[in-house]
Amino acid sequence: MPELLRTDICVIGAGSGGLSVAAAAAAFGVPVVLIEKGLMGGDCLNTGCVPSKSLIAAGKRARAVAQSRPFGVSANGADVAFGDVYRHVHNVIETIAPNDSRERFGGLGVRVIEGVARFKNKRTVAVGEQFEIRARRFVIATGSSPALPSIPGLAETPHLTNETVFDLTERPEHLVVIGAGPIGLELAQAFRRLGASVTVLEAAQPLAREDPECAAIVLDELTREGVTLRAGVEALRVEGSHSRIKVVVRAGEAEEAIDGSHLLVATGRRVNTDGLGLEQAGIAFDGHGIRVDKGLRTKNKRVYAIGDAAGGAQFTHAANYHAGLVIRSALFRLRVKVDDDLIPRVTFTDPELAHVGLTEAEARRRRIKVRVVRWPYHENDRAQAERETVGHIKVVTDRRGRILGATIVGAAAGELITTWTLAISQRLNIRAIAGIVVPYPTLAEVGKRAAITYFTPSLTSPWVRRIIAVLRRLG
Ligand SMILES: Cc1cc2nc3c(=O)[nH]c(=O)nc-3n(C[C@H](O)[C@H](O)[C@H](O)COP(=O)(O)OP(=O)(O)OC[C@H]3O[C@@H](n4cnc5c(N)ncnc54)[C@H](O)[C@@H]3O)c2cc1C
Repeated sequence: MPELLRTDICVIGAGSGGLSVAAAAAAFGVPVVLIEKGLMGGDCLNTGCVPSKSLIAAGKRARAVAQSRPFGVSANGADVAFGDVYRHVHNVIETIAPNDSRERFGGLGVRVIEGVARFKNKRTVAVGEQFEIRARRFVIATGSSPALPSIPGLAETPHLTNETVFDLTERPEHLVVIGAGPIGLELAQAFRRLGASVTVLEAAQPLAREDPECAAIVLDELTREGVTLRAGVEALRVEGSHSRIKVVVRAGEAEEAIDGSHLLVATGRRVNTDGLGLEQAGIAFDGHGIRVDKGLRTKNKRVYAIGDAAGGAQFTHAANYHAGLVIRSALFRLRVKVDDDLIPRVTFTDPELAHVGLTEAEARRRRIKVRVVRWPYHENDRAQAERETVGHIKVVTDRRGRILGATIVGAAAGELITTWTLAISQRLNIRAIAGIVVPYPTLAEVGKRAAITYFTPSLTSPWVRRIIAVLRRLG
């Protein structure tokens, strides 16, 4: 007989979203059961953000050494010991892991259960034969997994995904990456900087979701660093064995074979719904994820879905944002509404590409009359000092100056986007950014200078000139 646990909140999945809900609910003294079938910390800690950003950091160091001469600093090239890079990546994971551990959550008062959760009916979740959990509210935070395309030969050919690529202890000689989205390109650049040859194959447009003029700057930079980028090529079949793989692609009318030592598949994500028993719980889902309303509730009103499982923006900060909304709704019965326009996104290439709100194209599709202002990094003194002059900011406003979206491509773009996220969430006018005092010399001045250009045309307006003339006459 399974043990029956009654609790207030039952969370399925101990990744970014699930851990945030569990920690917050426990902090309010609410009984919580948290079920995890794999590693605590989920994708972000173990196979996503943390290892990828650690690998990128290693690549950045190697690049900095190789590029130090213009600063008057000599170094005889970067000597990369890939085994040590592996140890660095896993050391970072191990250092952060205690924050997400069973022990920590147990200490917070959360009952952590190891095992696979499955709905038995609309109000009960089972974990194997051992437990049945009845809760006032359930939160599904089961995340996503790599979506593998149906390319003939892929199943039989050794290939890497984000679940295995960080276990490499030796540098690949030639990494072939299928998929030029953020994950594929971040890893492509990192491996290139660490000394691998890298070819990226993309059937459509690389970074297709991003503002094209900003994405082009990232792609140019990757190409300059030696990443071979092949857009518009379709992978037809894959073959090979250990350390010798071949991808046959269609490029225009012709077929072409691309040889490599390793294959990385980064062609998108598939929501983890298999085996969850969603039908038994009356929860609707499709290929994009679990269907939720604006308040993140599924068709079964006892059950919320958050993070990657909810099928929207698939980021750790989106999962955390969802968790905050669910806490307000489930514990305080407040009305909540997800606003996707407030979720920023960053591609951690170098230069970084960060965006929040509407792109110019999205705003125009919504038939908004827009104004666009830009400012280049090369006009920024700090960027010159750091020799980080590639990139620009692009801000989209409505006709009255309300900020609708911002894209930054350049150094520290992921840090700089937060000002614009705040601006959009507070419905600020660009006047507010033009008027703030920004420390000199910082990259943040790029944003202020872009905002000031919004007003530049009015300096040539006859009305403004007349007002200035009158004021001067008045002394
Ligand atoms: C290579 C890579 C790099 C990334 N980089 C970034 C980045 O820089 N910034 C960023 O914001 N995002 C990044 N992401 C995305 C980020 O990792 C995810 O958006 C985030 O982890 C989603 O959190 P989650 O809670 O929805 O799911 P997860 O963190 O994946 O957690 C889901 C958990 O649920 C468990 N689970 C699943 N089914 C069951 C079940 N039936 N029973 C019990 N447990 C179950 C899983 O084992 C897992 O631990 C990256 C992703 C990848 C792959």
